[in-house]
This record gives sequence, C-alpha cells and structure tokens, in this order.
Amino acid sequence: MSIQTTNPATNKVLKSFDEMTDKQLETAIEKSNSVFQEWKKISYGDRAKILHKVAELMRKKKSELAKLITLEMGKVIAQAESEIDLSASILDYYADNAADFLADKKLNPESGEAFIRNSPIGVLFGVMPWNFPFYQVVRFAAPNIMVGNTILLKHASIVPQCAIAMEELFKEAKAPEGLYINLMLSGKRSSALISDDRIKGVSLTGSEGAGSSIAAAAGKNLKKSVLELGGSDAFIILEDADIDTAVEMAIVGRMNNNGQSCVASKRFIAVEAIADEFLEKFVAKVAALKVGDPMDRDTQVGPLSSEEALINILDQVKRFEKAGAKILVGGKRAFDTGAFMQPTILTNLKRGVPTFYEELFGPVASFYKVKNEQEAIDLANDSPFGLGGSIYTKDIKRAIQLADQIDSGMVFINQPTSTQPDLPFGGTKNSGYGRELSQLGIDEFVNKKLIRVS
Ligand code: NDP
Repeated sequence: MSIQTTNPATNKVLKSFDEMTDKQLETAIEKSNSVFQEWKKISYGDRAKILHKVAELMRKKKSELAKLITLEMGKVIAQAESEIDLSASILDYYADNAADFLADKKLNPESGEAFIRNSPIGVLFGVMPWNFPFYQVVRFAAPNIMVGNTILLKHASIVPQCAIAMEELFKEAKAPEGLYINLMLSGKRSSALISDDRIKGVSLTGSEGAGSSIAAAAGKNLKKSVLELGGSDAFIILEDADIDTAVEMAIVGRMNNNGQSCVASKRFIAVEAIADEFLEKFVAKVAALKVGDPMDRDTQVGPLSSEEALINILDQVKRFEKAGAKILVGGKRAFDTGAFMQPTILTNLKRGVPTFYEELFGPVASFYKVKNEQEAIDLANDSPFGLGGSIYTKDIKRAIQLADQIDSGMVFINQPTSTQPDLPFGGTKNSGYGRELSQLGIDEFVNKKLIRVS
C-alpha cells in the first residue's frame, strides 16, 4: 500500500488508502473539465465567496487540521497551526484581490484601441509535497480558482488525510462539485496524466527528479508548467551584523519545519571578522534545541517526515564526513524510536567536492568562514540551486547591492527567506521556474488575450 499515514514520531502505520482506479481517474478528469465550462462564466465575486468560505472553515477547524499535519508529517504543532492561518489568509487574499490582478489592461497602440483580457485556460493539475500540506496546495489552488481554472490535486502519498481534508473543505464550502478534486494517486502515475487533452497546465512543488519528469511530460504535450523545486539557500553574515539577531534568525531559518523547507537557510556563510563569534553562539543554540514529540508545545524540533527521509539524511551526513566535513554538533539519530535527527552543524565542506552541491533536507546546517563579501557571494552562487537567500548587515544599501549579485529568485535582508500571500515565491537554476503568489503567480495559467478594436 503506497498511500498511507505513518506517524513519523512513532513510525507506526495508522491508516492506508487505496489508489484511484483508472476509471475513477477518468471520471475525475471529466468532472473537472465539465465544471470548468460553467466555472469560467462565474463572476469574480461569486468565486470569491467560495474561497472566503473555505478560509472561514479552515480557521474554524484549525486545531483539527493542524493535528493532522503533525500526525502525518511531524511538524511541531504550533507551526502546523501557523500553516493553517497562513493558508486561510492566502485564500482570503486572492478572493479579495484577484479581480484587480485580472482586470482588463488597456494598451496604447499607434492606432485604434486594444486591451488584454485575462481568460482561464481550463483544468490544472497540481502535484504537491508533504512539507506544508495545506499551504503548498492553497498557494497554487486559490489564485487559479479565482482565474476561473479548475483543480485536480495529487498530493504526496504520505499526507493522504490532509489531502482528503482539503477536498472536504471545498465540499463543505458548497463549491461546485468537481471544482477541486483530490486524486489518490502515486507519483509514478502522475506524469502520464499530463498527456490528457482536458488538462491544460501542471504545477509541481517537489524534488528535482519529480520536476524533471513532470516538465518532460509537459514539454512533450506542449503544456505550460511551473516548478518549485529544492534549494540550498545561503545565509550571509557580514561584519556589521547584529550577531545575536543573526543567530536567532539562523535557528528559525534552518530549523523551521524540522529543517524540511525548500527555502530554508542551509549554507551559513560568515565573513572572518565575526565568523567565530557567530559560530560559537550558533553551535550553543543548536545544541540546546529541544527535540521530541511534535504534539508537545515545548518541542522545538520534531521528527523528519518519514524513516526513509531520516535514513537518507543520515547517509548524506556520513558521505559529507567521508568527503572531509566535520560535525560540530549532532549528526546522529536522536532516539531509538521515531524518525528523529539531532540538530546538526557541519563545517569544513570543500567546494568542488560533489557533496558540497547537495541539498540537506533536514535539521542540518553547513557553515563556512570566508575572507570578505566577495568570497561570500562567490560561495553563495556556487550551487546548482537558486531559490532564496538572506543577508545580515546594518547597511541596507550594501545589502541591496549584494542581493543583486546573488543568483536566486528571492533575497531577504535581515530575515530568513519566508512567504506571505502578497509576495511572489519561486526560484531560478535547478530550483525551478515560474512563480507562485502575487501578480506574477496569478498570471501563470492565464490566457492573456489581445482584443483589438480597429
Ligand atoms: P518528491 O518530489 O518525491 O514528492 C513531491 C510530489 O511529487 C509528491 O506528490 C510525489 O508523489 C510526486 N512525485 C514524485 N515522483 C514523481 C514523478 N516521477 N512524477 C510526478 N510526480 C512525482 O519529494 P520527496 O518527498 O521525495 O522530497 C525529497 C526532495 O524533494 C527534497 O530533498 C527536496 O529537495 C524536494 N522537496 C522540495 C519541496 C519544496 O517545497 N520545494 C517540498 C518537498 C520536497 P508521491 O508522494 O506519491 O511520491
């Protein structure tokens, strides 16, 4: 059984689910397509009513939904509750602002009149990961439902109850049946769907492997795709940074979501004037983190999402060590039971060695001391990824100049990379292409139709 809830805090399988049959899948696609024919004619105001209702229900059920997140993928409970709040605010934001984003845009041709009308394109296929089981879904679904598209959602196989709960919210909100359909499917069967004529676009958040498989199928079938993949974000600390604040931010940036965020701060790069002070304080804070039951409100770091994820990262740490890295703190499984990893800091990683270029998807930071800001930028850019990054300094003008030199989709100054409903999110290089959220995100799956009046 590939689709099941396994509590990573205990490694016990709690529930299993059957995958959809081909016939059920066909019914779902047909339903989504037929609902699209009606949904595209509905006013923005009526579309917004559904999203506001979903947001309201989410807030009402916050505790129950947050517990599901924690149960299925191990996020600490307070962070799971924040994820529900963020997801509800995204739904409200697009309900309130989509009409403005999508309003006709008047052009000024040399003669006559012309404007751009934003039209929906049809059924969209979303393939989403387990790390933010509600947020990842709504940041794709909310803007697109406002556009007038309909959604088929294949969620990660380890969060089936979150996936079902999301679909239930739409049902309870009295959305037209088929506006949002959860597909109980394995990853392996996902790419094949893209050749279906009724599916007009695909958006994936996940690994490079899944991204390349989805993008290949989308390319072959001439469909639009958006990819949000991994990252290995640099966290640069300059000599005039407030070190205590930088250390606090480093803990948040690296350990949030038990270290499993594409946009986590992963490579800590400090200039030599303050590197030792930063490292000493960072090691002390990481060593003091409380690892444990994610349902317990005192816990700071819960388990990884699965035993498999833990084994993978322990293996990575071993390979890093073999390649010359030193473990300053952590490095091992935390308890005999459950997928818990000790929060870890590695140093002495060498550029040019293959492990240097790998993403560490867990509570493992890598630390680098560099001579100056130029070395910091060179190191930050020496990565196949280009998702986010952050810079710590009191000199904002200098930080903006440096931000300009970082090859990534997002750079944050004096705070770790984060997300909010009204700012775009996405990367460059192997971190993917396209954007989610904001005007940029809502424009991804829209037909920008030129209407010309002579
Ligand atoms: P995956 O890419 O395997 O999973 C993400 C989603 O893609 C899941 O729904 C999965 O389904 C699906 N999927 C997997 N393989 C394929 C495929 N060949 N074709 C179509 N869909 C597929 O991520 P993992 O869970 O394995 O996480 C590992 C890595 O992924 C991390 O190291 C990180 O780099 C990246 N990642 C990035 C995230 C981000 O926020 N950008 C989030 C999570 C992971 P199923 O679960 O059924 O396999």
